[in-house]
Amino acid sequence: MKEKRIPLLPRHKIYLPAFGYGDDEKFARVFRDTWPRLPLHVRRVLLKHWRETKLHPDLRAPAIEVLPDWSRPAGRKFNNVYGMYADDGLHEIRFWAPAVDLMPDEQLSALIAHELAHVYARAARLWFTDRSQVNEDEEEKETAS
Ligand SMILES: [Zn+2]
Repeated sequence: MKEKRIPLLPRHKIYLPAFGYGDDEKFARVFRDTWPRLPLHVRRVLLKHWRETKLHPDLRAPAIEVLPDWSRPAGRKFNNVYGMYADDGLHEIRFWAPAVDLMPDEQLSALIAHELAHVYARAARLWFTDRSQVNEDEEEKETAS
C-alpha cells in the first residue's frame, strides 16, 4: 500500500506522510510558505545536511511528521512540547498534531522555523567542530520546544 503524502519540498523529494492525526494539509501549506522565508544560505545548509548525513541512501530524510504523541527518552521532562528535532541520524522532525491544528498560521510558521533552526545549528556545528569534540548536550542532541 502506498502511503499518502503531501508535497513539502517536492523538488528535493521531501514530503509529509499524511497520517491524519492532525491537519496535514494545513501543516504542509504553512511549511511551504515558511521555507522560502528562510535565508538562502540556511536552506542550502539544511538540504546539504539532510542529503549528506543520511544513514542510508534510501532513507527518507528529513522525516517530517505530524504526530499525536511520541516516545520520550527516559528521564526527560517535556512540558509544552509542540515540536521536536531528534538528532539521531534519522533526521526526524516531529510536530504535535493538536498544536498544528490550533495554532494560527504565523505561529505554526514560527514553530517550523524554530525546529529547522535546530537542524541548522546542528549542521553548522558539525562543520565547524570535529565530530568527536562535539559536546552532546541536551540542546543539540535532542531539543524540545
Ligand atoms: Zn527548541
